[in-house]
Amino acid sequence: MNLSKSKYCNGIQCKKMLWLYKYKPEEQEEIDNQAVFDNGNDVHEVARKLFGEDINIAFNEDLNEMIKDTEKALENENVIITEASFNYNNNFCSVDILKKEGDTFEIYEVKSSTHLKDIYINDASYQYYVLTSLGFNVTKCYVVILNKDYVLNGNLDLDELFIKNDITSDAIAKLDEVKSNIEDINKYMEQTEEPDDDIGRQCFDPYDCPFFKYCTRNLPSPNVFDIGWNTRFDKKLSMYYNGKTSYSDILGAGGLNPKADTQMNYELYNLEPKINKDNIEALLNTFTYPLYFLDFESYQVPIPTIEGTKPYQQICFQYSLHYYLEKNGELFHKEYLSDDYEGNPMYGLCKRLCEDIPKDSCVLVYNQSFEISRLKEMAALFPEFRDHLLNIVDNIKDLLPPFKNQDYYVKEMGGSASIKSVLPALFPDDPSLDYHNLDQVHKGDEASNAYLSLAELSEEEQETLRENMLKYCELDTYAMVKIYEKLLEVIK
Ligand code: SF4
Repeated sequence: MNLSKSKYCNGIQCKKMLWLYKYKPEEQEEIDNQAVFDNGNDVHEVARKLFGEDINIAFNEDLNEMIKDTEKALENENVIITEASFNYNNNFCSVDILKKEGDTFEIYEVKSSTHLKDIYINDASYQYYVLTSLGFNVTKCYVVILNKDYVLNGNLDLDELFIKNDITSDAIAKLDEVKSNIEDINKYMEQTEEPDDDIGRQCFDPYDCPFFKYCTRNLPSPNVFDIGWNTRFDKKLSMYYNGKTSYSDILGAGGLNPKADTQMNYELYNLEPKINKDNIEALLNTFTYPLYFLDFESYQVPIPTIEGTKPYQQICFQYSLHYYLEKNGELFHKEYLSDDYEGNPMYGLCKRLCEDIPKDSCVLVYNQSFEISRLKEMAALFPEFRDHLLNIVDNIKDLLPPFKNQDYYVKEMGGSASIKSVLPALFPDDPSLDYHNLDQVHKGDEASNAYLSLAELSEEEQETLRENMLKYCELDTYAMVKIYEKLLEVIK
């Protein structure tokens, strides 16, 4: 078959995945890779300038045109070519950055990750194989990743932002392996009957396979792979290999987190809600009035654009705040959504947050590690708000523990304490708490993408999208209010 870098990488993860892509593409589940894709494009665009001016080989559906354009660019003696394209025996590749000096070549494979992974080395080694097989004198092969510790200070410093990992010796050592992998893949793909390879670690390593549901379609429902509570995939696999697939096979077999046993018990026997009133009451007794419910929205980008921030740092641009000034009092709401699209949205957000939440107020969040980390980061960025933000941190209380500790559990939570599982489980028939009823923005990553798109929209479009972003974030804190009220109700 015609291989490319990505098909080769799919093939070494699992040949059956490649087979299903070709023969049963309709069976794949949608995996939201848009953010990864966008990040990759952004990073490639910046990395192009790592070595100065480049000749870019424009994408063409006719790959032969790209190869011809590359040949023309290679007529230069010393040149940087991005997306230089080659084909050896139906093995096609576009090299992210190819550096030609005289008759020697260096390959640079650019990744938007901050970690070097084996799959990247395999990807670059495939390119090394293609180019050396075509007779190019490749002297160096690199995987370029982002430096997670880089802090933007003035103009982007590309030499500091990127880390070039020299993997030449790996690429040389892998030459025979790449050749035999390609032969194996080609042989495998000749099969016209669907292969019956079993599932395994490869299904989620290094990437999530979109055919997992298809490959486990004959298992009972629910099955071992539906167990939640952070049960490791390896653990589930080992039960699967031992023939323990249904909840009744697994329950009582031991070795699992007791919370997983609770999940299975509740689903198998349709048990009544589990409520530990003492523990819930002990937590609620630590809350004081005025009582604030806070939720941030944030985005992450690989290339920092804001002074003092790092690759993939969470940038808060919005919050919603519900609050009671007194017990059984009126519920109020405040909100903030930055319109500082070019600057640092966190400055205006912190300023308003310090106005909206008086010092020493009890602040409820859901899963405190996120809000606490963001507040500490912003306190470090803005000395003028530091004391106030750290005071908020000191007064944060978390609504997650009753659900994480299963002090309150109903089977509909399905093994998850996330607010997106808890809310519909506690309020199944309340359309005002149903995120599906919102327009445009229904979850966190949609809010991030919406914010990043605002600057490009017309005034009218901006207004509508901002309204929908506000409604989404408002629902996040309103959901917390309703969950809090539910906890008060069940301990009565
Ligand atoms: S689910 Fe697993 S076995 Fe099935 S195609 Fe994907 S990686 Fe291969």
